Amino acid sequence: MSVYRCPECLAQLWDAGEGLRCTECSIEYPVADGVPLLSRNRDYYYGHEVPRDVMRSILARATEVGWKRALTEHAEECGDMGFYGYSASEARAGFKFLLDHFQQGVVLDYGCGSGANTLSLARNFSHVFATDLTPERAQFTRIRACQENLSNVSVFCCGDTKHIPLPDHFVDVVIVDGVLEWVPESRPGEPSRVQIDFLKELGRVLKPNGHLFITIENRFGAGYFAGVREEHTRMRFVSLLPRGLGDLYSQWVRGKPVRTYTYSRSGYRSLLQAAGVGVVDFWGLLPSYRLMEKALALDDQQMIDEALTEVTWRKRLRNLLVRPILPWMVGSFGILAGRVRSTPYIEDLARHVAKTYSAGDEVKILRYWQNSAGVVHVHASTPRKRYMLELPLHPGAQRRLAAAVENIRQLEAIEGVSLKKLRVPRPIAWECYRGQAFLLGPEPQGRGLNDQVSGAAFEELLSRAGEYLVTLCYTTLRRAGSWSEILGQKIRDYGLPLAEQYRRRGLSGDIEKHILQIADSVTKAASLSEGFLCSIHGDFRPGNLLVSGDRASEITAVLNWGFFEMQSLPFLDLFHFMAGPGGQSSWGGRVVKLLQALRSESADTGVVRDYAKQVNVDKSLIPLFLIVYWIRQCLLRLQADVPQLAEVLEEGISKPLDSFRAV
Ligand SMILES: [Zn+2]
Repeated sequence: MSVYRCPECLAQLWDAGEGLRCTECSIEYPVADGVPLLSRNRDYYYGHEVPRDVMRSILARATEVGWKRALTEHAEECGDMGFYGYSASEARAGFKFLLDHFQQGVVLDYGCGSGANTLSLARNFSHVFATDLTPERAQFTRIRACQENLSNVSVFCCGDTKHIPLPDHFVDVVIVDGVLEWVPESRPGEPSRVQIDFLKELGRVLKPNGHLFITIENRFGAGYFAGVREEHTRMRFVSLLPRGLGDLYSQWVRGKPVRTYTYSRSGYRSLLQAAGVGVVDFWGLLPSYRLMEKALALDDQQMIDEALTEVTWRKRLRNLLVRPILPWMVGSFGILAGRVRSTPYIEDLARHVAKTYSAGDEVKILRYWQNSAGVVHVHASTPRKRYMLELPLHPGAQRRLAAAVENIRQLEAIEGVSLKKLRVPRPIAWECYRGQAFLLGPEPQGRGLNDQVSGAAFEELLSRAGEYLVTLCYTTLRRAGSWSEILGQKIRDYGLPLAEQYRRRGLSGDIEKHILQIADSVTKAASLSEGFLCSIHGDFRPGNLLVSGDRASEITAVLNWGFFEMQSLPFLDLFHFMAGPGGQSSWGGRVVKLLQALRSESADTGVVRDYAKQVNVDKSLIPLFLIVYWIRQCLLRLQADVPQLAEVLEEGISKPLDSFRAV
């Protein structure tokens, strides 16, 4: 007996040799490599991401060298990160802490694609059923789950039959991530009617206290008014028109009417009510559900206000205008719907935290946002205090957070160090609640920055950063021999593992020889004057700083200590601050430019000479520290386990190497 039902008549399916069999309608359903094909068109292929033959070769490689390596090879071969970026990272499931039924619940991931959400959900729920109409994608999801040792994942193909092949009241949560709008494309009938029937069917497999989580565009998203193309039709303004007029327009442009219906908030509410799941909560997912950065409860004015706090008057004015209309004009929704109200995991977690650390005070969630390292940050307040919770979305992010906790402990243990003076928020707890790790700390003071800080603001910030790094250096420095010895040693410490990474990835070029040559010439060039080691943050960039005031007049907190090193070299953090953040040119190009600027002692490198003076290092040594910075960064990049595109290697490693050999 199988857990699956017949997708045509819902009768029990039975094991029959190589496949499954319905005794009612005598249909045999094949099982291909462990994936039951419970669809009519078993040859369907969703070709919007990669062509079928490419997907098949990725599948073949996935079984040989692992799913991640297969995706990496694909990206490296075609020089395009698109498919890798969309499908590899579990960080796509940044919405998952908005779900109920954590740990015990059974999930259906309907339209699982390449399995990024499936894997992430499998880490938090007791079982995940993942399904896609494309057999190759279902197969890829299955391979991924096996290779990640997630035995609580079952994958099957379905999507073009009347029924979902699962029993009534079977799952606690259904994820419909970017799927609902596509459903009428493959089924006949009036599009809204098709969508209602589809939602009814989801309602059938849902337990009475279960929930749907639907991510989808807002028909009246602000972007569409500004002329952004509608994602499904690739036409401008089409979703803003009345349906009839939109059809005429689409008929004229594309030769067919619009079937990929999206709706307004009230439209989705009516649709869900018609399908019998009438308790509906709306989240706004910004900038889009495809790669969410912020989630806002759209009925929660305080949460909207918190998300729109800005310091510049221009942005304040914009917010004043946006605030009242945002709940209706946000680009994407995350819709939580059921027959009864749900309790998102973060609400439950916030209550747990308030009970444990704040004497059971009333607690309120104020912000929910996701950073680029795969960590969701939740800000919560009680009448006494404001907290920040950090929740890793995948094992890699969890390791990084654990490292940061340990690093802060080590930093604090250094004699004479005060975390307060170094503006490091001290963690309150690093724990697990209902199977999910979280880091609890006080909410750090100040305003966050992204890495794209412009012009004058960057200048101001740079000089604050220089002062901060002098303090970090002074409070952690230890004498350790001559600069000649120290620099030569550090080049080997970072450079030899770099050469090892090179070999392991099958990259050409005798990098080890070059590293040893550079180490030799640096050893000769560096004076015998006394040197020292000091602690470095390791990823010191604007995105990891909080500041006060409009013009970043003070650094109020330094975050994300996951790359900290207790005994490294001065200058490295400062160089990273100057060369790290985005901008037009590539990172390697910026390193080379920085080298030239340092050697010509141009005005914009004054902060480096000031720093050198204050930590008492002769300025002639400065370019040598830049070489060490470059080698360390190359090592971190290659260790980061993402595809290395040829042009990135060329720009980041080969070009700077040539410049440094000339030094
Ligand atoms: Zn049947």
